[in-house]
Amino acid sequence: NSVTENMTCTFCGCLCDDITVEVADGRVVKAKKACANGAGIFKEYDPSPAPPLVDGKETGYDEAIAKAAEILNQAKSPMIYGLSSMAVEAQKKAVALADKLGAVIDTTSSVCHGPTGMGMMEVGEATCTLGEIRNRADLLVFWGCNPAASHLRHFARFSMTPKAGLNPNGRKDRTIYTVDVRPTPTAQKSDHFIQVAIGHDYEALTTLRALIAGKKITQKEIAGQPLEVWQELAERMKSCRYGVAFMGMGITMSRGRQHNVSELFSLVTELNKYTRFSVLPMRGHGNVAGADQVMTWQCGYPFAVSFAKGIPQFCPGEFTAVDMLSNKHADAAVILASDPAAHFPVAAAEYLSEIPTITLDCEVSLTAKVSKVYFPTACYGVDAPGTCYRMDNVPIRLRAAMEARRPTDEKVLTSLIEAVKSC
Ligand code: SF4
Repeated sequence: NSVTENMTCTFCGCLCDDITVEVADGRVVKAKKACANGAGIFKEYDPSPAPPLVDGKETGYDEAIAKAAEILNQAKSPMIYGLSSMAVEAQKKAVALADKLGAVIDTTSSVCHGPTGMGMMEVGEATCTLGEIRNRADLLVFWGCNPAASHLRHFARFSMTPKAGLNPNGRKDRTIYTVDVRPTPTAQKSDHFIQVAIGHDYEALTTLRALIAGKKITQKEIAGQPLEVWQELAERMKSCRYGVAFMGMGITMSRGRQHNVSELFSLVTELNKYTRFSVLPMRGHGNVAGADQVMTWQCGYPFAVSFAKGIPQFCPGEFTAVDMLSNKHADAAVILASDPAAHFPVAAAEYLSEIPTITLDCEVSLTAKVSKVYFPTACYGVDAPGTCYRMDNVPIRLRAAMEARRPTDEKVLTSLIEAVKSC
């Protein structure tokens, strides 16, 4: 039995690295400071040794690798998907496997913040670290995101309430806005809530850009609100000491998608003519920021990449996993630490269960259950060390609370790279 301090919770992009983990009889029994969302990562994981399954039957490791390699060698259009709940050491191997196979590789970014990456490519991103926000920001704008439900310790550790730096009085030193299509728990904790009409975020953001630039607007009502509401927000943004816009899937997955993101990123850049302002995407999966980093280092693009022509090609809408499956373009799949069978649209999920699939996951997910080959792997941050990137792209080293009795994703992917033929 043991106690390990300063463990990291990998459930969400906050990557809280102050968790104290108690292990008894080979399992985590306590994860102090982990929130309700994160505690399950530690306590629900069963680290017992578990053999790979082929067609649901227990199989030796080498035989399972041979079967997986046979599937991938026969495939004409293999696809690799997931990556966001693995350490970067394994993500690197996933890209190397895609390169060797001539496969399509896509991450969970394509169903959450993919448009954020596209917006960033278009206009750049005025970013910062969560440490800067905690110590300096006096205006926070939560736009299309709800960390009160999705990132439970974000307010206390980084944004709303810490008494730190230039904010010695914590919450009292900060003005908080929420902009969303409906009232949320985050809106309840804010000083101001602006309810934007559904599908009109782009219009609201363009209005703010125009107001910041000093343009005259004659329209009385915009995006469901009187012009005065946007005028007041624009003035607040220009006159704050240091502002931050946190943005989420309310912008990236609503009408306008990457255009909404470009507009917000442009607004933030333009605000820097008057004050200091940054934007930070609220990233969901624990290492989805790492997946973007690794993909971009190694392919030049953050998601939706095909190696079929021997060079990385980027095409969201074609090489994104939902499209590869819905259009029946993939004939085999490697699913890494994610559960598309449970979360994808019905047509994509049904097709996934028709093609031979190889899954690596520390949990027996629905995807694992419909897979031809399933490798139960170790859990990064519980029984395997590794590196993950926080939502502000700061790398955090994960500690392990116990010795792994299962192979890591990195090890299984290394074995697969050695076993498959080059395309
Ligand atoms: Fe884990 Fe996120 Fe909760 Fe922190 S806020 S403990 S990283 S789930």
